Amino acid sequence: MAQVHANLIGGRWVTGAAAAENLNPSDTTDIVGVYALASAQQAREAVAAAEAAFTAWSVSTPQQRADVLDAVATEILARRDELGRLLAREEGKTLPEAIGEVVRAGHIFRYYAGEALRPGGELLASLRPGVGVEVTREPVGVVALITPWNFPVAIPAWKIAPALAWGNTVVFKPSELVPGSAWALADILHRSGLPAGAFNLVNGSGPEVGAVLVDDPRVAAVSFTGSVATGRAVVARAAARGARAQAEMGGKNPLVVLDDADLDVAVNVALQGSYYSTGQRCTASSRFIVTPGIRGRFTQALAQALRQLRVGHALAPDTQIGPVVDDRQLTKDLDYVQLGRAEGARLLCGGARLQRDTPGYFLSPALFDDARPDMRIACEEIFGPVGCIVPARDYDEALVLANATPFGLSAGLCTTSLRHAAHFKRHVQAGMVMVNVPTAGVDYHVPFGGRKASSHGPREQGRHAMDFYTAVKTAYTAA
Ligand code: NAD
Repeated sequence: MAQVHANLIGGRWVTGAAAAENLNPSDTTDIVGVYALASAQQAREAVAAAEAAFTAWSVSTPQQRADVLDAVATEILARRDELGRLLAREEGKTLPEAIGEVVRAGHIFRYYAGEALRPGGELLASLRPGVGVEVTREPVGVVALITPWNFPVAIPAWKIAPALAWGNTVVFKPSELVPGSAWALADILHRSGLPAGAFNLVNGSGPEVGAVLVDDPRVAAVSFTGSVATGRAVVARAAARGARAQAEMGGKNPLVVLDDADLDVAVNVALQGSYYSTGQRCTASSRFIVTPGIRGRFTQALAQALRQLRVGHALAPDTQIGPVVDDRQLTKDLDYVQLGRAEGARLLCGGARLQRDTPGYFLSPALFDDARPDMRIACEEIFGPVGCIVPARDYDEALVLANATPFGLSAGLCTTSLRHAAHFKRHVQAGMVMVNVPTAGVDYHVPFGGRKASSHGPREQGRHAMDFYTAVKTAYTAA
């Protein structure tokens, strides 16, 4: 019997009645590991452990917290290759992409080790004579962190690190598709010098374990990243009992390509931003809104580049695009390709399941031309390597089309016109805007998040994360 990787509750590794094998999407004969599934009762015990640990951790010194986060960063960075291999094996990103994600997670922990040392606050004069006013920030309490599968190390890092830096205690519920990366992260945190219970891992199903955390009155705040449908339900349930809730959700991100764009830049931005990581990034652009003077050249060059991409096993050295994450996502992608055809869009390349040496979920990257803005392939998040060209008459129409979506996560523009760049940055309805840069790359020291249906609550990352992970207190003192 293979080793069962346990959950971490109150500083102890705890197994339960159930466990599940996790399979490699590049090779479904490869079992990545066996992971314990927490019960609802164990999720409650994790909350109790976090509540008990809060008393001490919330008043630990900034230096203690910084030391812990720094130790975590050091170990993550030292083990980047090994952790990257694990991530690539269970999620399907290519090895360089996976190692890049692990390095980023290490940098995030180091960044918040620094932030822990400057908790901030203000000392002000009161409007009343003889009274001073202090505005300070305090940790909020036990936070539940619920994450998706597509960035199994970086997204947990950008929630766990600020939560701990500012004195909260954590119950972490990763996606059930990537328990290995979550376990490795928990193991590092467990040995980092954190007091028992300050960080807890409960792997398990969303509707069971996740929902228990969202509903538990001892959980002061819920930070969620995932799909719109789940995110909305999580926010509503948390808000119904007065808890803080933050949700970063899906998108249908536009990339506007104007006549005056540099063709090579535009094709590279589309490739990197839409198809790398197998198109499975929330910020990936999947609607290419293109004006007539460049449309033929852009479409042809992008289709040509897509046909040459090497799709294969995530760990093979020459692979550029790994598999999609599981059979459900593969079926979803293939169904959208069928739908696009049925809707009357023209499939220029890809969209077929590929056979490789190992049994995996390989899909050739797909590009549709002649998509109308109201087609479902141009409106709904597919979350795979499936893009479509939506023609636009000119910049003005392109901007209208870019904004004609309930989502507002990221938006891209390729142009050499400063005037259009400035106008687009001001008027596009998205939380993140990229001009001549792939929409998928984001920095960790600046705010991350969307608008409209893509986002709810304060921003993640950078100093702005403080608005979610701390509570403001205003204290008046007579002199
Ligand atoms: P998902 O919504 O299916 O699951 C996300 C997490 O929620 C998982 O841990 C899941 O177990 C949990 N969950 C499911 N039901 C729950 C419930 N009832 N209560 C509590 N938790 C529950 O999303 P996914 O398929 O893992 O991820 C893909 C989605 O995530 C895409 O829509 C993508 O755009 C989005 N995403 C958004 C961002 C962002 O920052 N905006 C980043 C990455 C991914």
